[in-house]
Amino acid sequence: MPEKEDYYKILEVAKNATGAEIKSSYRRLAMKYHPDRNPGNKESEEKFKSVNEAFSVLSDEEKRGLYDSYGHEGVSGASGFHGGGFADINDIFSSVFGDVFGGSFSNAFGGRTRSGAQRGADLKLDIEITLEEAFTGLDSPVEYSAMDACQECGGTDAQPGTRSKTCPTCRGSGVVQFSQGFFSMRQMCPDCAGQGTVLEHPCKKCKGGGRQKTKKTITVKVPAGIRSGMTLRVANAGDLGLKGGGYGDLYIEVHVREHKIFERAEDDLILRVPVSFATAALGGKIKAPNILKETLEVTVPKGSPHGTVVKISGAGMPKLGKKGFGDLNVIILIDVPKNLTSRQKELLEAFEKESSEADGGKSFFEKIFK
Ligand SMILES: [Zn+2]
Ligand SMILES: [Zn+2]
Repeated sequence: MPEKEDYYKILEVAKNATGAEIKSSYRRLAMKYHPDRNPGNKESEEKFKSVNEAFSVLSDEEKRGLYDSYGHEGVSGASGFHGGGFADINDIFSSVFGDVFGGSFSNAFGGRTRSGAQRGADLKLDIEITLEEAFTGLDSPVEYSAMDACQECGGTDAQPGTRSKTCPTCRGSGVVQFSQGFFSMRQMCPDCAGQGTVLEHPCKKCKGGGRQKTKKTITVKVPAGIRSGMTLRVANAGDLGLKGGGYGDLYIEVHVREHKIFERAEDDLILRVPVSFATAALGGKIKAPNILKETLEVTVPKGSPHGTVVKISGAGMPKLGKKGFGDLNVIILIDVPKNLTSRQKELLEAFEKESSEADGGKSFFEKIFK
């Protein structure tokens, strides 16, 4: 058996080459000697094998260390490179070239499309609306930017007026095949990424990909009764995908601003209304607004204590996706006057005296602890 050639020599790198240098040199040589590019050329095939073998050792820190210390002996035999066999070549090739193919390399022969089509990304944004808008629902214009078809090339990747041609490397099949010892291997064509065609003149504006960031304005239908934190989905309003992969979706999270006077509890609304002590005691009618600022008449029952709730059915928020409305709960707050006229003071003192006599002059505690 002839003396084996030095791995560093094979990869055309220095002994102290960095991992990146080794990788880059391997890329260049592997493409150069690729059997598909040199059909029937035994010498290229041998070179291709050597390059892969050398790279599998020098790209692995542990193996490289052994090789540096012990030469070919250190990495051959059961524990060395040959123990693993050449079947690894597929993995080596993928791991180095995978990123060139935009991650679709491993999908080339999986269940997915040969073209490596990739759906666009979903996008998310937030909008803020008022409680009144949540009540009525609205058509809200939304501005955002998303990846869409390049204006220059219309998403074709090609400069206007130029065309695609059949990929010369794979002759349009999208696949390259080469044999490696006992193994026959198929790989996605590295030149056309499995498309079978390459562009004569790629678009200069989007530099391939056929996409560019685009400002968009859409109108989002926000349904009546929506609650804060709910998310609306607008199908196909996200990013455009790659290679005909279609659009992602747009998700819009709705935030309902707090209202100055109304509080919301699911479909119900809560409104706090101050009433005079006299009205609370005697009962009566007061006026209160609904969410649309229309005036409602609220009946305060006779003898209402502080915090009494008067329910007005159907004056709350619309029920989302259903018919009908929640309720408006009016909470009665007893307003204690601070600045009394002398006449008011006289009347209240008379009222107090009268109340005391009606109770037989007993205090609150005397009544409880009798
Ligand atoms: Zn090709
Ligand atoms: Zn373009």
